[in-house]
Amino acid sequence: MSPSNDRFDLVVLGAGSGGLAAAKRAAAHGARVAIVEGDRVGGTCVIRGCVPKKLLVYGAAWRELLADAPSYGWIPQADPPLRCDPAVLLEQVRGEVDRLNGLHIGFLAKAGVELVPGWGRFLDPHRIAVQQGDQPPRLLEAERLLIAVGGRPSRPAIPGSELAWVSDDIFRLNTLPEAMVVVGGGFIACEFAGILHGLGVAVQQLVRGPRILRGFDSEAALTVQEAMAARGIALRCGERPTAIEGDPGALRLHTDSGAVLEAGGVLLATGRRPFLEGLNLEAAGVVVEGGRIPVDGDQTTNVPHIHAVGDVTDRINLTPVAIDEGRAYADSTFGQRPRRVDHDLVPCAVFSQPELATVGLSEEAAIERFGRDGITVHRARFRPMQLALPKRGPAVLLKLVVAAADGRVLGCHMVGDHAAEIIQMAAIAVGMGATKADFDRTMALHPSVAEEFVTMAG
Ligand code: NDP
Repeated sequence: MSPSNDRFDLVVLGAGSGGLAAAKRAAAHGARVAIVEGDRVGGTCVIRGCVPKKLLVYGAAWRELLADAPSYGWIPQADPPLRCDPAVLLEQVRGEVDRLNGLHIGFLAKAGVELVPGWGRFLDPHRIAVQQGDQPPRLLEAERLLIAVGGRPSRPAIPGSELAWVSDDIFRLNTLPEAMVVVGGGFIACEFAGILHGLGVAVQQLVRGPRILRGFDSEAALTVQEAMAARGIALRCGERPTAIEGDPGALRLHTDSGAVLEAGGVLLATGRRPFLEGLNLEAAGVVVEGGRIPVDGDQTTNVPHIHAVGDVTDRINLTPVAIDEGRAYADSTFGQRPRRVDHDLVPCAVFSQPELATVGLSEEAAIERFGRDGITVHRARFRPMQLALPKRGPAVLLKLVVAAADGRVLGCHMVGDHAAEIIQMAAIAVGMGATKADFDRTMALHPSVAEEFVTMAG
C-alpha cells in the first residue's frame, strides 16, 4: 500500500501546551493545520506534569489540614482514624488526566486541526513521515513546520540509574513505598519530596549543592528548606548519588560521602532535556546547539520556515511561556499580527510545601546587577493567622527587592500558602514598573497575608 500524502499550511510536531496553542490559533487564522503526537494529547503539563502534580499537592496537603482540625474544634470521630490511601488518590488523578486528555482532543476537532497520531520524522525540510506502530508511515507535506516536542527527564550517568523512577513513573504507581530517596534540589525534587512526605512516605532528599532551589532568592529558598526539614523531610545537602543497586522495591543508593541509603524507591529529579530523538533534524537542516533548538525572538530556527517553541528550545521551561510562544508564532505568521513574547519578569512557583513563588530578581541577582548599595530589601516574616490556633510553623516570608535609585520593585518573593496566587497579582504591578511607594500607597486588605506586601516598613 502506498503511503498517503497530505499537504498542510502548518504541521506542528507535539501536542503539548505550546503545540496545541499554536495549532488552534493558526487554524483560527484560517490555516490548514495538522498536529502530530506520538504520546497522549496534552503533553507534559496535562499528562505528567503541572496538572497531576498539583492534584497530588492538594492531596498531600490534607495531612496537615487534618492534623490542625482539632485546634479548630473538629473532633476526629472516625474509627480507625482517617488515613490516606495513595492508590485512591493516584487513580482519581489519572481519571482527571483522562478527562482533560479527552477535552483537548475535542478542542482540536472543534478548531478544525487534524490530529495525526504517531511519531514524526523529518524526511526533508518540508516533509514529515509519521509512524504509528506497524502501520505504513503517513507522509505530511507542509509549507511551515513548528517543532514543539517538549522535553524528557534526564537521568544522571551513574550505574543503576535505570532502576530508579523519574517523575513520569510516579503518576503510574498504584502504591507508594514506605521510604524513598529523592535526588535533586530543583522544582520537581522539592515538589515531589513534599507530596510523598504528605502521603506518608519517609523521604530523604539528596541535594548536590549547599541548599535546595539554586537560582531562587536564597533567603526564600532557605525558608522553604527549613520548613521542609521541620516537617520531617531528611535533607542531605552537599551529597551526590554515585550508584543505585538492588531489586525493585528494595534499592540501595550509594552517595559520594560513602553513605548507603535504603529505600523502596528512588526518584531521580535531576533536570529535563529537549526531546530530539527520532526527529531526524539533519534531514531538515535544523541546527541543534547544546542539545536544544536555538531560535530567535520570532521562534525561528536557522531554517526560515521551521520554528520551535517551548521546552525544546530550553529557554524558560514553563507552560504559560510555551503557550504564549505558540500563540505569538501563529498570530505573527498566519494572523498578520506580528508580536514577540516578553521573556522578562516571568513569574513562577515551586509547589513545594510550603509554596514558593517569585517574580523578578532575587536579592543576589539584583546585587550583581546594581551593586550592594544599589538596592534595598524589605521583608516581613511572621506566623500567618491560620496557624495561630494550631500553634505551629512555618513562618511565611514576603520580600521585596527594590532599586535604590528610583524605588522600582525589582523582585517580589513569597514563601507560604497561596504564594502562587498572590505573586501572580504582584507580577502585574512589577511588570508595570511599580515602585515601593506604589505598593505603600495601596490600601491594605485586612486581615490577609498579602497585605504585608503593602505595609512593609521602609
Ligand atoms: P531543575 O533544573 O529545576 O533541577 C534539577 C536538580 O537536579 C538541581 O537541583 C540540580 O542540581 C540537580 N542535579 C542535576 N544533575 C544532577 C546529578 N547528576 N546528580 C545530582 N543532582 C543533580 O530540574 P527539574 O527536573 O526539577 O525540573 C525541570 C524543569 O521543569 C524546571 O527547570 C522547570 O522549568 C520545569 N518545572 C516547573 C515546575 C513549576 O513551574 N512549578 C514544576 C516542575 C518542573 P544543581 O542545582 O546543582 O544544578
